[in-house]
Order: sequence, then C-alpha cells, then structure tokens
Amino acid sequence: MNIDAIQLRSVTRKFGTGRTEEAVTALDSVTLGFPRGTFTAVMGPSGSGKSTLLQCAAGLERPTSGSVRIGGTELTALSERGLTLLRRDRVGFVFQAFNLLPSLTAEQNVALPLRLAGRRPAKSRIREVLTQVGLADRARHRPPELSGGQQQRVALARALITRPEVLFADEPTGALDSRTGHEVLRLLRAMVDTDGRTVVMVTHDPVAASYADRVVLLVDGRVHDEVAAPSAQTVAARLATLETARPINFRPESAPC
Ligand code: ADP
Ligand code: MG
Repeated sequence: MNIDAIQLRSVTRKFGTGRTEEAVTALDSVTLGFPRGTFTAVMGPSGSGKSTLLQCAAGLERPTSGSVRIGGTELTALSERGLTLLRRDRVGFVFQAFNLLPSLTAEQNVALPLRLAGRRPAKSRIREVLTQVGLADRARHRPPELSGGQQQRVALARALITRPEVLFADEPTGALDSRTGHEVLRLLRAMVDTDGRTVVMVTHDPVAASYADRVVLLVDGRVHDEVAAPSAQTVAARLATLETARPINFRPESAPC
C-alpha cells in the first residue's frame, strides 16, 4: 500500500508583494508524495526552493496556495496553535547549523522539546535516544565540548525524543567532514529502516543523496526530475546535465528585448 506520510498538492510559495519586480516564486505548484517509511533527498541549484519546500512540508512556513498534509492532517487548515502542536508532536527538524543551546548539556538539549511542552522527560527515554545516536557517554557534555558530528547527533536525538513520524533535515551534513557526515547519514537511514520513519533531506552532495531511496530534483521552484534508487554516480551525472543544459535561473521573460 502506498500511503504518503507527507503529501504536497500544487504548493506555491511566493515571497514579496507580487506587485514589485522583486517578488519571488520560491515554489511553483509543486505536487509530491513522500511514502511512509522512505528516505527522500531533495537536490537542486542554490535558490531552487529546497529549503522552502522543507519548511512548507514541516509546517514552519505557510504556502501561498496549495495543500500540505502530514498523515491525515491538512496543515493549511490549522491555526497557529494547531501548527505549533503538530510541529512539536509529529515533526522532527534538523538544520545544517545544529541549533543546539551551547550552555545546556547534551541531555538537557535533548530534553528541551519535552520541557517546552510542559512534560517531564524520563531519564530512561533521554538515555535511549542518546544511545541510539551513539552518544550515551557524552550526556553531560555541552556542545562546545563536542565535535561537529557529535553535535549533529545530539540534534538528531533531540529531534527523535518526541517520536516524530516524519523527520526533515536541511543539509544536515553540510558542516561536517565526510566521515562524520556518513555517521549522520547512517543514522538517518536507520530511522527509516529500523523505526519506519519518513525522512526528507536536502543535500548538495551526491554521495549523501545515495543513502536515500529517491532523489527529487528542483529547478526554479519546480520538480524537474526524480531519480529512484540513486547512486552517487547517477546523481552526479544528472546534476551535471542540468548545469550544462542551460544557465541556472535563466528566465526568458526577464531577458532584455
Ligand atoms: P534553496 O534552499 O534551494 O537554496 P530557498 O528555498 O532558500 O532555496 O529559496 C528559494 C527562493 O526564494 C530564493 O530565490 C530565495 O531568495 C527566496 N526566498 C527564500 N526565503 C525567502 C524569504 N524569507 N524572503 C524572501 N525571499 C525568500
Ligand atoms: Mg536552502
């Protein structure tokens, strides 16, 4: 059964008033499904709408038009409060810059989403997620005492503490060297294979994309192409044809007459 954990229908996101020359269509009528228990990599040139896609799919941004569903829930119909609860309880998000609080220990950072929800986090649960990311012995360390890879694994543990059904990661390995990047990618893969979560990750790196089940390629805010069962080689080749086919961001209507 193909049940989409996340479903986007004709999602458009514009920035600016629409009346000025600077109005930008970051996403242009994107329709995409993310089947439950799969790992998708989102790729495309800088400015092609990858981050906007993730933010709209995760309920961090509201689309200008279109429909976004997580499970059976229509996000665009939710109030701000409803969106906040959905993000807190059902969605995990990991950023390139880790976004940990430097003055808190690893276990305090991991516990934060539950504390913010007014819940008392069980010590055993914190230990469980830190063990899952291989950092049980670093629970009392603060971010400045951890390597980049370890910090990103703390961020992953923090995203997992609420047992979200979907996890979004925007260039999670962008600030890491390739060895620690692989550790993070293996963990993302295991979240899909072992825990049945749905993972959507933005990346520039064809090797990172090869951990996914599918690559979605965005160009100018539209789905340009998809690659199933991607290898680093096929993804790199697809990106290369994209770059030689035409200058990125070329828009005929903006060319001088
Ligand atoms: P990517 O992640 O692929 O680099 P983004 O989704 O960040 O692309 O951006 C897509 C387009 O939307 C870009 O032209 C960017 O400048 C524009 N954009 C993104 N966020 C905003 C914003 N908050 N305000 C104005 N323009 C934005
Ligand atoms: Mg981006």
